[in-house]
Amino acid sequence: MSDKGLNKRFYDVLVKNSENKNWKKSINEWNIKNIIEGEYTTKCICGHIIIQRCVIVNKINNNELVVGNCCIKKIPSFKKDFKAYKGLKDNKLNQSLINLAFEKEIIDDWEYNFITETFRKNKMLSKKQIYYRDKIKEKIFGGLITNE
Ligand SMILES: [Zn+2]
Repeated sequence: MSDKGLNKRFYDVLVKNSENKNWKKSINEWNIKNIIEGEYTTKCICGHIIIQRCVIVNKINNNELVVGNCCIKKIPSFKKDFKAYKGLKDNKLNQSLINLAFEKEIIDDWEYNFITETFRKNKMLSKKQIYYRDKIKEKIFGGLITNE
């Protein structure tokens, strides 16, 4: 077992919920689904106590697992998603987050293009553009974060 700081318990649960029983392959079956900002604590599948829960979903069998900050950033295949995850956590829009929202059909083509063009700019935008940009931003965060 390669050790990137993920513990055995993490892999055991992950593999148990995956189709592929080889952990190296099973880890590729998972995507980040959303983040739950909870008021109470729960446990990551590694055993750590966590408050902010990242729900990951298996692309093949639709199983869902709850993972914490402790582990999510250590999963290589989640690197792209982790940027999005970090953006969500910090309430800061970034391209990974925009891509994730688009993949999940939270925003449409037009919104995707508009927000990709405008999310970094501030001074160049008209009031109307800022209005739309903020609306799309709200939509992205609203679609990816669940509050209890
Ligand atoms: Zn963990």
